Amino acid sequence: MGFYAAPIAKLIEEFEKLPGIGRKTAQRLAFFVLDLPNEKAGQLADAITDAKKKIHHCSVCCNLTDVDPCMLCKNSARNQTQICVVEDPRDAVPMERTREFKGLYHVLQDAISPMEGIGPEDIRIKELLSRLSGGQVKEIILATNPNIEGEATAMYIAKLIKPLGIKVTRIAHGIPVGGDIEYADEITLAKSLEGRREI
Ligand SMILES: [Zn+2]
Repeated sequence: MGFYAAPIAKLIEEFEKLPGIGRKTAQRLAFFVLDLPNEKAGQLADAITDAKKKIHHCSVCCNLTDVDPCMLCKNSARNQTQICVVEDPRDAVPMERTREFKGLYHVLQDAISPMEGIGPEDIRIKELLSRLSGGQVKEIILATNPNIEGEATAMYIAKLIKPLGIKVTRIAHGIPVGGDIEYADEITLAKSLEGRREI
């Protein structure tokens, strides 16, 4: 570390904390930023501060948004009778890309994982249940990831919701087991949505 002036060392250290960034890449990024004109470097710093300041969770679907309710929840053209339940805000993006789903979303923020000490009360299940009291929702599509945590979460939610007389479906396994919804291609995801089964 001693080779670098303290502010450079600090910049490298911060880049190294980012996911997938090793020491070498962190150094490369730090020097790239140092080479930027002040204005460009300022834009980068501002983008981080701005996103942190303006982005929060939608009070309805718990997705990330800068307006509340979010644009999707506010859009009356969306099918208000279907809610697609996903684990992560990033999962709604490929789902939207399929153009097959026109309903609403609910973002749990995580999946139940006893191994990591994440219980049902730690994810946004309570918020999902509160959306069902109006009687408008006819189907819950469980699009949690096809891994142990995602399956456990889907089963847990299905057990809670089925007694309410609402149809509960699980997307088909077009997505490889252990795979992530986030990285699924549109065609696979559209097919798994189309092939969803009632549970
Ligand atoms: Zn929303």
